[in-house]
Amino acid sequence: MTMIEKENKFCAHNYHPLPVVLTKGEGVWLWDEDGNKYLDMMSAYSAVSHGHSHPRLVKALTEQAAKLAVTSRAYHTDRLGPFLEKLCTVSGMDVALPMNTGAEAVETAIKAARRWGYHIKGIEKDRAEIIVAAENFHGRTTTIISFSSDPDYKDGFGPLTSGFKTVPFGDIAAMRAAVTENTAAILIEPIQGEAGIKMPPDGYLKDLRALCDEKNVLLILDEIQSGLGRTGKMFCFEHEGIRPDGLTLGKALGGGMMPVSCFLAKRELMDVFNPGSHGSTFGGNPLAAAVGLEALKVMEEENLVEKSAEQGAYMMEELKKLSSSLIREIRGRGLWIGVDFDPARVSAREICERLKEKGVLSKETHETVVRFAPPLTISREEIDWGITRLKEVVREVESRQSAA
Ligand SMILES: *Cc1c(COP(=O)(O)O)cnc(C)c1O
Repeated sequence: MTMIEKENKFCAHNYHPLPVVLTKGEGVWLWDEDGNKYLDMMSAYSAVSHGHSHPRLVKALTEQAAKLAVTSRAYHTDRLGPFLEKLCTVSGMDVALPMNTGAEAVETAIKAARRWGYHIKGIEKDRAEIIVAAENFHGRTTTIISFSSDPDYKDGFGPLTSGFKTVPFGDIAAMRAAVTENTAAILIEPIQGEAGIKMPPDGYLKDLRALCDEKNVLLILDEIQSGLGRTGKMFCFEHEGIRPDGLTLGKALGGGMMPVSCFLAKRELMDVFNPGSHGSTFGGNPLAAAVGLEALKVMEEENLVEKSAEQGAYMMEELKKLSSSLIREIRGRGLWIGVDFDPARVSAREICERLKEKGVLSKETHETVVRFAPPLTISREEIDWGITRLKEVVREVESRQSAA
């Protein structure tokens, strides 16, 4: 049996992977079982912003694993405080609640917002509402898919959790109209990653901040994908000079090594939790804390945020030179760019399959968008190499179609 056959036999079919079997990663490069080399333009959905097997992160992981890895929060450790202190400092938030996966951080945010709604705002029992945006992606738990607008995510998983209201993304008037006295929070991605790197109009976050202040509603930003340098700022909210009341982080927080997530908040919001009201066996374990702290330090000391801004601007400029009738739009910020293909001409899946043959790994989101989100450590030469491969693929598909 090949590795693909084995996986297909023993692993649930909840993904549709490209047919490549990876065995090794280093920096922006990946290798398959036959020794072929690929440029990683996906970074595990932005979890590998530091590049694969970053030596400092490998060291932090192995040293801490050899010393003390998991204790549960039944005890204090010498690793958790320093990690969360650093995270609060870089984000400007007061307090953090450590979890493991992104979905858990979002669940934490939802619980915090609801309790704040009852205990602080004074919403009537079980009436709290959270407003979300259409086409959101916040994870895969039963509650989170309850407010997804993608039927694939929800079909057959009911009964769903109530208490959520959906408005179009980027539409401040619709958001204003949806707020009621029972609204505890607005939960939103500053840029919608899984929807295809969809950007709101300029000023949207600022307008949301003002609306929330006016109506005594929490602004909770999900920066699990957009945060930690991906958009050319440490956090996407910095582009508009605002600060949320609650913030979810994950993915790159684990340095491309392990799941590490956090819900961060202002003091008044986080203080709704007391012992027994929330928790996680693995959340905040010393291994995760050691890796998370090192991930933040590497990001600063290697100027990964500045690199994301610079290389991202360069990549955008180069991608725009592609000019092809196959492409409808190129959009994004920092090293997070979506190329939207015309589905009448070619599927994003076909582009990804052809890129793979040429040594570039990406992944389609929905039917039309190919994402370019390499590790933030990528060089200009590596960007050029990747874009040249994309150019070849685009020209091949164009010429096939003009011959037909
Ligand atoms: C990936 C993602 C999540 C979910 O994270 P998991 O670690 O897969 O649970 C939540 N929100 C956003 C914006 C994401 O991109």
